[in-house]
Amino acid sequence: MTFEEWQSLFSESYKAFNETSPAFKELISEVVSFAEARATSLYLVGGSVRDFLTGHEVKDVDIAVEGDAFVFAEDFAAYFGADFKLYEKFRTASVMNRAVSIDFASARAEVYPEPGALPQVAFSDIKTDLKRRDFTVNAIAARLSSSGAELFDPNDGLSDIRAKKIRILHKDSFKDDPTRLFRALRFAERLGYTLSEKTKILFNEAVENNFCSTLSNSRICAELEKIFQEDSLPTLLPKVCKSALLRVLSFSFEAFPPSSFALEEAQQICLKSSKEQSEELLLYFSWGILLGNLPDSEISQLLEMLPLKRTVRKKLEAYFAVRKDLETALEELSEDHRAKLYGLLHKHSEETLLLLVLNSKRPIVRKNTLFFLKYLGTMTPKIKPDELIQIGIPEGVHIRLALEFIAYKKADNPKMSKDEEIILAKNYLESLK
Ligand code: ATP
Repeated sequence: MTFEEWQSLFSESYKAFNETSPAFKELISEVVSFAEARATSLYLVGGSVRDFLTGHEVKDVDIAVEGDAFVFAEDFAAYFGADFKLYEKFRTASVMNRAVSIDFASARAEVYPEPGALPQVAFSDIKTDLKRRDFTVNAIAARLSSSGAELFDPNDGLSDIRAKKIRILHKDSFKDDPTRLFRALRFAERLGYTLSEKTKILFNEAVENNFCSTLSNSRICAELEKIFQEDSLPTLLPKVCKSALLRVLSFSFEAFPPSSFALEEAQQICLKSSKEQSEELLLYFSWGILLGNLPDSEISQLLEMLPLKRTVRKKLEAYFAVRKDLETALEELSEDHRAKLYGLLHKHSEETLLLLVLNSKRPIVRKNTLFFLKYLGTMTPKIKPDELIQIGIPEGVHIRLALEFIAYKKADNPKMSKDEEIILAKNYLESLK
């Protein structure tokens, strides 16, 4: 494909994007006019350019400003009356128009004081900015003007899009920032690309020399959690483990990679749950499946040492504390012991039980737990607490115990009538005397 053909492909998909989002179209055209009036150069950069060219959905639009992006965004927002957010630490900014937001950062050069550390930055022109990026396909820019968006590709990213290759921009790239090792696998899997030959050699050298050891645990966790959000998670995460990138946390990840099947099932469950719940649920399942194959002693060590979200850590601890005992008990249970199954599982959260199903390799454990989740777990008695009080059951803990007792019996007799429940409640009261 010639440059002109790439340019026309890009212009078409950029135009189509503008047409589907009037709020974006309005915002970007105001931003561009404002920049032209100040003689400031603006460039679309990073993922959006790649995604316009490859036909993937464009989620975030990042703009590089030649100059101080922070000041530019603040002035623009004041002029346009837009909502905005400034991030003092990195001097970046987001400007919002209705549901649309555009991120601004200054074109910059980066110097790594030592491998794995965060870089020192200085303002630069766009060409230098593109040179500091991770891969050629992420280092294509498009200069914005009122007549459109013109591609600028000094690192030959277009050839790599065509060849479906992930290529780093210089030989020390993985050493400077080993998070790029994770990113390389992530983008390769997402786009269906492979690492270029030289990048593959440098990738292997980086792994052999354990470059990831210069990364903090929180940066490793952040990379893993980005991987958890990929559609390709079921194939990607096992690849990350087998490629030895997680050796820095434990050698066991290579020997015991997570099951693709379990990860796929986890994604399915999350798709069915509400948007607010699904994000945390996916984190919990992904960590649970990733850690689930490791030896017990390593699991507790990693749970202690990794900077996980507090609520996710709590759920994982609850699951790992009971899973071995539950698996053993469930294996010994025959199918017609519904009341025993109820007694065994009803005290555990749905999340614990779902992870038990996802991680268990024993069909009987999966079957029993799923049966509980589907039928027995929803076995709520018809009788209400105030009716139990009327019968004479003392208020407080005994009300809960009586309801549990009735539900336990109902597990063997799901069609139980309310009268039969009342008889059971009276039996319970008798047992207290
Ligand atoms: P996604 O669709 O996952 O958001 P993206 O390419 O936009 O993909 P981001 O992590 O949002 O990815 O980063 C935006 C851009 O910043 C990248 O395209 C790349 O050019 C650059 N970048 C991000 N992380 C790094 C890094 N560790 N090293 C070098 N450049 C990076």
